[in-house]
Amino acid sequence: MKLAIGILGMSLAFAEIGNAQASSSNASAEVPAAREGATDSSYTVFDATPAQEAALRAQIRLMHPEVLPLRVFFVPHWKYLDNARIFHLHVPAGYGSFMFTHLPSRTVFIDNDRYQDESWLGYWIAHELGHLKSNSIKESDAEKAAREFRRRLSTPIKIYLEVASGFWAGCRQY
Ligand SMILES: [Zn+2]
Repeated sequence: MKLAIGILGMSLAFAEIGNAQASSSNASAEVPAAREGATDSSYTVFDATPAQEAALRAQIRLMHPEVLPLRVFFVPHWKYLDNARIFHLHVPAGYGSFMFTHLPSRTVFIDNDRYQDESWLGYWIAHELGHLKSNSIKESDAEKAAREFRRRLSTPIKIYLEVASGFWAGCRQY
């Protein structure tokens, strides 16, 4: 399983995009309290390094999601799989997901053994925020919302091109 995941991870193609719409000035132009619960303190991050948590919070702040998670867990791979099993997430052989969201509890699980960097984090958390915004387990709904969140990120984001072409099958929300 781990090997398959590693191969999949390595096969992901990178491309840098600079987003002309997202300027760094967005970072200081915070939308004040317009969105319900849109504050850093309204969700809890578990078991992240200080750098990971800082990056996550900065990215979520920039993306201004309409619906925030309540909890974000960074977990080792074995625990990720365990949680996936508990939440009946089906991870087919040769595929996997890096994160998943349990919608009823607004809890996001991140497979920390597959964490790459902040761009990776931003790209994938946008997808999970898309599930939360759309309140949908459908990958297409999540991606539609995620595209807007990614636009709001002021820093260039690495796009994992192959992921967009069918990798969503590995991600399920319950
Ligand atoms: Zn998904």
